[in-house]
Amino acid sequence: MATQEDKELLIKVKDTLKSEVSPITYSTWISSLEIQSITNDNIVLIASNPFQKDTVTSKYLDLIKNTFDFITNIDRTITIKLENEITESSNKTEGNNVKLNINNGLNPRYTFENFVVGNNNNFAQAAAMGVAENPGSKYNPLVFYSGSGLGKTHLMHAIGNQILQDNPDMSVLYVTSEQFTNQLINALKDQTTENFRNKYRNIDVLLIDDIQFIANKKSTQEEFFHTFNTLHDSGKQVVVSSDRPPKEIDLLDDRIRTRLEWGVTADIEKPDYETRLAILRQKAQIENIIVDDDILEAIATKVDTNIRELEGILTKLIAKASLQNSQITIDMAEKAISEVIQSKDKVISSQYIQEVVGKYFNIDPQDLIGQKRSANITFPRQIAMYLCRNVANLSLPQIGKDFGNRDHSTVMHSVSKIEKEIETVNNTKLIVESVEKILRDKK
Ligand code: ADP
Ligand code: MG
Repeated sequence: MATQEDKELLIKVKDTLKSEVSPITYSTWISSLEIQSITNDNIVLIASNPFQKDTVTSKYLDLIKNTFDFITNIDRTITIKLENEITESSNKTEGNNVKLNINNGLNPRYTFENFVVGNNNNFAQAAAMGVAENPGSKYNPLVFYSGSGLGKTHLMHAIGNQILQDNPDMSVLYVTSEQFTNQLINALKDQTTENFRNKYRNIDVLLIDDIQFIANKKSTQEEFFHTFNTLHDSGKQVVVSSDRPPKEIDLLDDRIRTRLEWGVTADIEKPDYETRLAILRQKAQIENIIVDDDILEAIATKVDTNIRELEGILTKLIAKASLQNSQITIDMAEKAISEVIQSKDKVISSQYIQEVVGKYFNIDPQDLIGQKRSANITFPRQIAMYLCRNVANLSLPQIGKDFGNRDHSTVMHSVSKIEKEIETVNNTKLIVESVEKILRDKK
């Protein structure tokens, strides 16, 4: 059992982590971790659900470990467990009949109940409900597409959670395209493709998120194509999401594109004011805090892009208020809003990005534009291109031009390489987050 001292240590570690990661990352993955035990060489932390366990283990373990090591000056490994794994091992006889579904990838927090329906998403939500009620019949495949932060992932989990609630014996699997790709690569490497195929071709519902990432990956597309056919032919449900309509995903195999168009495609638009306000109200309610309607209205009026950002502001305010042990005031809200808005209004140019990236990596910005191909230049160059695309929203040809007249396909390759690494390599993610923060803060 954890002692008071252990708990205090965890609080210190969390405080440090809070300034290292984004507020959403902190509140989603870190803040609810609890401490189970500390030995000379290991620390066991408890996650509250399988999704948190997997994500923390795959993405934040190094960061957490380093923070503990830094504060205690002792080198220990970290293990993330679920509460029931701990009680299970100490009490093996109970819980035999409990189906834990540890590997279905579903986040129980994303449900239909807490998905606010508005004009922007009612078709997508209705299609999702249709699939949840009748998997594998209507709407197969179901394809969602939208810009980022508008609810695709939420709806996919909601479908999975609902199906399992109604049909506990069905096998449902949620994966990101990244995970699908990585599992395939590992299977090829370990010569376990047979297992991989058995896993994917014997499920009832496959939810595969952000399919745009498999574009340009030949063997992944090939495998997905066969997985899709096997499932679809046997009346199993496939749900896919993408950041754009399938016909606009460059470098996606035509056979896959055609199949994605067999079923129903639902886009999600930006939410209108009423929907934004409803989402904020719900979020405050879920977090169990009272926020004046004036404040929610101010946020809903001014933040009109994506829901992740909307929630981000509220999360930030909640954190700030709890830190200062005060209520959320309209002043605090206005400040948080203007920070977000200013950071968006800033015109961030390629030159500025090159300058900041150069400084960050301690290299001459001219080298980012030039032809050098050593790793200490190419990696920063790819990061800079990624930021031009995703922070400055420049087009691929424009970025190519600003980086010494490179071809737009070179830019695309760099951008998708970094996009992928952000999901798989913690260090890359941290670098991108820090440079992005500098870009947004400094201007
Ligand atoms: P996407 O996958 O499209 O990038 P997400 O599904 O991850 O977006 O949504 C971003 C955040 O916004 C999540 O925390 C999600 O719960 C929330 N969200 C999105 N749409 C809604 C909605 N209609 N009602 C409530 N929360 C929503
Ligand atoms: Mg998503």
